[in-house]
Amino acid sequence: MAQSKFYIWTVGCQMNVADSNRAADAMRQAGYTQTQEVMDANVVILNTCSVRESAERRTWGKVGALARLKQSSPDTIIAMMGCMVHPDRALLHRRFPLVDHFIPAGDVDELMASVPPVEDEWGTQLYQLSSDSSVSAFVPVVMGCNKFCSFCVVPYRRGRERSIPIPELVQEVKGLAAQGAREVTLLGQTINHYGRDLPGKPDLGDLLHAVHEVEGIERIRFLTSYPRTMTDKILQAVADLPKACEHINIPFQAGDNTVLRAMRRGYTIEQYKEVVGRVRDIIPGVSIATDVIVGFPGETEEQFERTYEVLEELRLDVVHIAAYSPRPGTKAFELGDPIPLDEKQRRFRLLDAQHERISGEINSALLGACEDVLFEGTQRGKWKGRTRTNKLVFVDSPEDLTGKTLPVRITQTGAWSMQAELAEARELAGASI
Ligand code: SF4
Repeated sequence: MAQSKFYIWTVGCQMNVADSNRAADAMRQAGYTQTQEVMDANVVILNTCSVRESAERRTWGKVGALARLKQSSPDTIIAMMGCMVHPDRALLHRRFPLVDHFIPAGDVDELMASVPPVEDEWGTQLYQLSSDSSVSAFVPVVMGCNKFCSFCVVPYRRGRERSIPIPELVQEVKGLAAQGAREVTLLGQTINHYGRDLPGKPDLGDLLHAVHEVEGIERIRFLTSYPRTMTDKILQAVADLPKACEHINIPFQAGDNTVLRAMRRGYTIEQYKEVVGRVRDIIPGVSIATDVIVGFPGETEEQFERTYEVLEELRLDVVHIAAYSPRPGTKAFELGDPIPLDEKQRRFRLLDAQHERISGEINSALLGACEDVLFEGTQRGKWKGRTRTNKLVFVDSPEDLTGKTLPVRITQTGAWSMQAELAEARELAGASI
């Protein structure tokens, strides 16, 4: 019997990565084998993103490149998942005639209902154990979003907030730990709204406590937090629980209140600063990441400068910067896209340079420090891992460090990553001299 193979391609955020992992897991359990060669696949899954125009363009390119595959193997099934799948299926079929199935974001059950079952020569459906053994796993815990920021398609494509009950999540995390995961990142577009729709209204703090009990899991992270609703209880859980890592992702998007209002973000910059202050007060040594958009329709030079000033004042560890791109169907789409691309790029470069300088300064304070690093694998011949504060660290070692948490001494720092040596190796070398 010829093997049934699937190929999966993912673009976009961690939620999409998590959805792709779940889809791949379900395909393997159904008897499919994953292939990295698209031309070998019987089923091609494209997990798409429409949060930025550039992500959509990548999908258009990918679908175009599949024309040759469809010509040579017309039976190959192409399934499109993710945020580019909107309810107007007729329009999608017209735009993407090569695609056989359109699957709403994260709907793995519908995906599995769309692909043919794999059977052996006796007609028995096959099941395979999952082979996903990644050290660091994503676990979606709240789907969708209720906020409707004016620039964002997520609530239209992923629906309203829906939380998964704690017992189900604990089971999932236990399964991941059994497969080799040492770290889990709990995911939600507004993760701190976890549990609002569940009986008894457990919150993210309760979930952190429950996941903390899972044996084998050493680290817990979560993202993304909505600023105005971050509670002290959640922050205190991070401070109290040894496995909860001191890293918070809390987007602010713009440093000017008029722009924030136009974005419908639901808070002022003063409120955002208050949240950052509380995060730092309650969690000692915390690192903070944020998201910023430049070139939102109507953003003046002065308004952009206020964003620059806020970042200068707050000195956040990581700043993800995006140039605004209009998304059809959103409120902001009606405002057009009046700021020219080269002006958006200029603002982007200014924030990028500022971020490089500030992050470089923050990280330089770690030179010579000893940090615990959980190693995930290799990159360009070095072992790659992260500190509890989510700083990327590279070390040389002849041993396989995958899945190990080891103390390292930081030997070189930069804005984006650091070099280090295993602390024990250095002490041994010192002893032998
Ligand atoms: S909070 Fe705003 S930006 Fe974030 S997913 Fe919801 S609508 Fe989009």
